[in-house]
Amino acid sequence: MATFQTRFLGCKVSFADAQAIRERLLADGHEEVSEDGEIHVVNTCCVTHEAVSKSRQAASRAARSARTVYVTGCASNLERAFAGTAPNVVVSGRTGDEAAAFVAGHVGAIGCVNAEHRLERVRAFVKIQDGCSFSCAFCVIPLVRGGTRSRTAGAVLAEIRRRVAQGHREIVLTGVNLGCFRDRAAGVTFARLVREAGSIPGVERLRLSSIEVNHVDDALVSALLETPTVSPHLHVPLQSGDDAVLRAMGRRYTAAQFERRLAPLAGLNLTTDVIVGFPAEDDAAFERTLALVERLGMTKAHVFPYSPRPGTRTADADAVSAHAKRERGARLRALSGELSRRRWETRVGTTDRVLVDRPGRGYADDYTPWLVEGEVGAFVAARAVGVADEGVVAVAA
Ligand code: SF4
Repeated sequence: MATFQTRFLGCKVSFADAQAIRERLLADGHEEVSEDGEIHVVNTCCVTHEAVSKSRQAASRAARSARTVYVTGCASNLERAFAGTAPNVVVSGRTGDEAAAFVAGHVGAIGCVNAEHRLERVRAFVKIQDGCSFSCAFCVIPLVRGGTRSRTAGAVLAEIRRRVAQGHREIVLTGVNLGCFRDRAAGVTFARLVREAGSIPGVERLRLSSIEVNHVDDALVSALLETPTVSPHLHVPLQSGDDAVLRAMGRRYTAAQFERRLAPLAGLNLTTDVIVGFPAEDDAAFERTLALVERLGMTKAHVFPYSPRPGTRTADADAVSAHAKRERGARLRALSGELSRRRWETRVGTTDRVLVDRPGRGYADDYTPWLVEGEVGAFVAARAVGVADEGVVAVAA
């Protein structure tokens, strides 16, 4: 038996992959510890230059105390990203689906143990597909994760049932490009999967981690609006609100199409990702992004300052100054904070179900943060009484 620790950097898919490795090591009889583990697993991210640096730092730090460090995840597939790190660092260089078996094979099982282990109690991230077959000009993900491939609907639904039995209250469907999910053999589209997942007894809340606007079609809109357990929240990456920038990025929509696709979902809590400082983005283009984020009332914009990624079509382009990127990023974050606050204020006096995920706070059904006391892992009926910097202030209803 070995003692181990895992950590992840980056998105929900990285979290889900790290969770799969944890589960596999636990099932093989190894012991998870919070410090001084013999084995460290660092599931890495390469979405920006900064993400790769942080991943390298995490691996180097872990290598000082661990016997062996396994570097898995997106950055492990970037050529030479970990060259020159310590000799006890093993770079997986495999896709997310294969990483758990790779690490487990290296560490070795102690045999005869195959217990079910419940991980975080509150929400479970269930991966339904991996990879991406889009080809956005700036994005390294298709290079490190490969083209899209889906799990079978049967496997996804079985995992959700297992997570429910383990006590998870909320299920988050996760993938690199979620809407690419298809189970052709079983005839299950993504919209149908949402309906079936949301109807599993015991699923109290179902969320999508992120969805490209191209996949927000009539069938999906109906599934989201007609499945009672589906959270009225959607995270839809915008990246830019300017048509010329969107074209240069190789995104497959215009700003107007983005807006039109989301029109039937007005009222949902919408959040997004935006890249600031893409080479084709001038001041006027950035203003159009701000205006669109405001028109759509997007409450949270994850801001990514553009950094060229190796192997992509814009690998050699970085025309916008660091200063302009910082300034645009700050303005977008400020707008996003303001839009959040506006939405939170509309909630004062209303009641909602809050899933408490840490002491004193949790998320309401529309995935807005509410500050309320309750048992961690439980739904609390709450009434909003005010607004603070961190979210809606509430008391038990
Ligand atoms: S949709 Fe575009 S940004 Fe998203 S993972 Fe695929 S290539 Fe990257």
